[in-house]
Amino acid sequence: MDLSYLTISEIKKGLRDKKFSCTELVKYYFTRIESFEDINCFITLNKKEALKRAKEVDKKIKSGEELKALEGVPISVKDLFMTKGIKTTAGSKILEEYIAPYDATVIHRLKEAGAIIIGKNNCDEFAMGASNENSAYGPVLNPWDKSRVPGGSSGGSAASVAIDMGTFSIGTDTGGSVRQPGALCGITALKPTYARVSRYGIIAMTSSFDQAGPMTHTAEECAEILEVIAGEDINDSTTSKLKVDKYTEDIKKDIKGKVIGLPKEYFIKGMDMEIEIRIKEMAEEFKKMGAIIKEVSLPSTEHALAVYYIILMAEVSSNLSRYDGIRYGLNNKQAKNLKEHYEKTRADGFGDEVKRRIMMGTYVLSAGYQDAYYNQAKKVQKEIQKEYLDIFNEVDVLLTPTTPTTAFKLGEKYNDPLTMYLCDIYTISANVAGLCAISLPVGLSTQNLPIGMQLMGAPFKESVILNLAHQFQLNTDFHKRQPNL
Ligand code: GLN
Repeated sequence: MDLSYLTISEIKKGLRDKKFSCTELVKYYFTRIESFEDINCFITLNKKEALKRAKEVDKKIKSGEELKALEGVPISVKDLFMTKGIKTTAGSKILEEYIAPYDATVIHRLKEAGAIIIGKNNCDEFAMGASNENSAYGPVLNPWDKSRVPGGSSGGSAASVAIDMGTFSIGTDTGGSVRQPGALCGITALKPTYARVSRYGIIAMTSSFDQAGPMTHTAEECAEILEVIAGEDINDSTTSKLKVDKYTEDIKKDIKGKVIGLPKEYFIKGMDMEIEIRIKEMAEEFKKMGAIIKEVSLPSTEHALAVYYIILMAEVSSNLSRYDGIRYGLNNKQAKNLKEHYEKTRADGFGDEVKRRIMMGTYVLSAGYQDAYYNQAKKVQKEIQKEYLDIFNEVDVLLTPTTPTTAFKLGEKYNDPLTMYLCDIYTISANVAGLCAISLPVGLSTQNLPIGMQLMGAPFKESVILNLAHQFQLNTDFHKRQPNL
């Protein structure tokens, strides 16, 4: 049987009906990984353990045991999640040899549901970036065009899913890191509401924005995965007590009469014309399915990028102070005293973008500037939140492009941080305002590069965006396009 591009439910059915074994499936994915090594999607592979787990699943099937939600599904995870006994580098040299002593809650829940981890995906160092060029383990290439970036920071996750090196991946999204690479690699990627999924065991970048999310081929799979990973966690006091919806049921609802807002601030000068046209065509597609399209305005959007980067850098400077060469990872042995020890470890261990953000973050928090930058940004964040929450009294979801351009060339923006930061212009508002959002592939540009469409929903309304996304995918086949390698 052809094992390519199987979805979670196809895998479960195939295993149950004994169309293929779990061992065959795991081997198939490792063959894919070996065939496209040049794309550089993984930092660490977990082959031995994965094959061992596959054997156990095969035994279970043979004995007719019931299979759990993700039993036998081979997956990869961004190298930002702690995985017990497997290296966790966060894409950084400072954690090159670090082996986590415990599993992140997300990992724990995925394993409990029966998923098999085949490896740890390459990513931008400490999840800082939009092109995966900030990884200490080399850039990831875009499978649609190897001279281009896959997006970031979950670039290895997105590219690996796009070329079928695992059924799905779990990434993290602080300002767009599951959605933006998802869009540039032509896959489906969900950022749940902050507090929906536990952050315990995810290496912290910006604790008030970080959130884990599934990167898949379909919205239906996002729903299946979210049901497994979402929900309160005693190890993360910020997780919500709200009950987890039955996403896999809710996605089946009719979307007739749903109101979709098109915010005019998301169709701006500087974006690709082709993307603007495509997204507006997709709005028409929703109209045909019975939804109502309404133009709306969110004027505070223009401040979101500045607010995001100020808060982000402040939290980065504080969160990354723990890498002192004493407790974790790299440890400079030549230093003559403690201060030199810190300096040398951090100078050697961190890359340029991380250093830039630590310095800027330290600056925005420094006495004399804290009011002007950090405190001011927190105030503006409240305004943005209010404006976005209010709009959901008028609409069910917001429909926007995920990115202003398609995948750009490797090296094109690398030396220009400001231009790089602008890649996130459409994704960061969801993090700043505390919303949920999903990116869906909506076909290719004239240059044969994927275009992404974003649906944003009110806090904890994952059911609503997943419902629209799933119904859209039932009516279209953009999510079935695959790169020609
Ligand atoms: N590209 C954004 C940044 O560099 C988003 C990162 C993320 O979501 N982890 O901060």
